[in-house]
Amino acid sequence: MLNLILIWLLTVLAMEGFAYVMHRWVMHGPGWFLHKSHHRPRDGRFELNDLYALIFALPSIVLINRGIMGGLGSWAIAVGVGVATYGMIYFGFHDVIVHRRMPHRYIPKSLYMKRIVQAHRLHHAVESKRHGLSFGFLVAPPVDKLMVQLESSRGKLRSPTGRETPA
Ligand SMILES: [Zn+2]
Ligand SMILES: [Zn+2]
Repeated sequence: MLNLILIWLLTVLAMEGFAYVMHRWVMHGPGWFLHKSHHRPRDGRFELNDLYALIFALPSIVLINRGIMGGLGSWAIAVGVGVATYGMIYFGFHDVIVHRRMPHRYIPKSLYMKRIVQAHRLHHAVESKRHGLSFGFLVAPPVDKLMVQLESSRGKLRSPTGRETPA
C-alpha cells in the first residue's frame, strides 16, 4: 500500500514536469491551433483549448481501467489516479483561481500562491506562440525574474520599425 501511495505521489509531482513540457513545446508548438484559443478572449463558455483536458484525461482513464479490469497491476491504478489528481489540482488552480471560470472569493494570500498566480498571469502577458514565458503551473520562478524575461520577450516581439509584430 505504501508503495502505491508513493507511486501516486511521484506521478502527481512528475505531471508538473510533463505539463511544463507539453505546454512549452506542444501547446506553444504544433498544438498552438488549439491552445491559441486560451490566449485570446473567450467568447463563450468553452474554448478549443479545453480539448487538451480531454486528451490528457485519456491515459488516466485507460490506466485506471486496465488496472482494475486486469492486464496491468495495481501500479497502473496509482499512476492513473495520480494523473487525475494533478488534473484536478491544475483545474482548481488554472481554471478556477487564475482564470475565474467559476465564481469565487478566494484571494491568494500565501507567498507561494501569490507567486504561481502572478507567474501564470505573466504567461498571459505575452499572447504569442513563440515568445512565451513561465510555462509551469504549480512551480514557477520568482516574479522579478519573470519580469526581466517579459521585458526581453517584448523586445523580441517588436519589429525593427518599433511596431508589434503579429503573433
Ligand atoms: Zn500558453
Ligand atoms: Zn491560462
